[in-house]
Amino acid sequence: MKPQSFVKSLENFYVVKPLNPFKSRVKYMTSFKLAINPYRGCPYKCIYCYIYGYTRMSDIRYPASRKLFKRRLRRDIREYARLGLPKYPVYLSPSCEPLHPFLENRYGNTLYALRTLKEEGFPVIISTKNPSRLLREEYLEALDRKSTTIHISVPFLDNRFEPNASLPIGRIWAASKLVKEGLTVYIRVEPIIPSYGAIAGQSKMELKTIVKEARKAGVYDIISKCLLLSIGVSKVYPSFYKELKPYYLRHGYSDGTYYMLDYNTRIRLLMPLYKACRRNNVRLWTQINDLPFSETPSCNELESLTYFR
Ligand code: SF4
Repeated sequence: MKPQSFVKSLENFYVVKPLNPFKSRVKYMTSFKLAINPYRGCPYKCIYCYIYGYTRMSDIRYPASRKLFKRRLRRDIREYARLGLPKYPVYLSPSCEPLHPFLENRYGNTLYALRTLKEEGFPVIISTKNPSRLLREEYLEALDRKSTTIHISVPFLDNRFEPNASLPIGRIWAASKLVKEGLTVYIRVEPIIPSYGAIAGQSKMELKTIVKEARKAGVYDIISKCLLLSIGVSKVYPSFYKELKPYYLRHGYSDGTYYMLDYNTRIRLLMPLYKACRRNNVRLWTQINDLPFSETPSCNELESLTYFR
């Protein structure tokens, strides 16, 4: 099936969507994946988050359940089966934290989605900054050990850019427990943020420590990318955006609604992580493209990844 036909066949779906359906990227799609966002907006409000570029301000301020989520998910899954489409992996979730305690306690949409996807036999990739939630019995039961991959985001050792998320050390602890449960766990060290002006990106020591701790937790795979500076960040965290913009103008270029660093700068910023991975016998993954270190937007589309040797 051509990417365009795949995207078209899901046009009338409510909550099951193609991952990264943007026209400009469809022609580069190397593998088909589905995406489900159980919530609108994200209560973690990470300072660097690119969803500010396309999310309504009301959803950024007041994250909530997607309308009629459970009913619409069931309807989409039925329609998907009727169309006879293959069971592509489902990514939970590109534009929100799927396991935020308040939203999950109140609505339970992610738990519902995990149960449904398991029943229907879809492989799942779940990306989270709150992995300890997955250690609850009901979530562990809803995860299919053979076809679930958990991506735990640990870009920093503290909460300086993620003021509302759980502590990074707790995320690594949860990673070790999930590995012991027999689940496949990747750590996402992304975005890599450059240090510039008042912005303190990751130090070499910080990156080394994250890799070491990940390895101790039993994780052998790390995914990374450099920050895409979304213009939308200026709506929510203007000082962060203003501080970094000159750096991106000098070392990168604009790509419509965001700024991207040039190749050499990305290599330079990723190199300490790469070296730390080599030293600890951990694989570093990045997205296939024309460059070895090309971009894989965080909590966003995840197409084919390639191991950078
Ligand atoms: S980076 Fe992820 S967890 Fe943080 S605000 Fe954005 S969507 Fe939420």
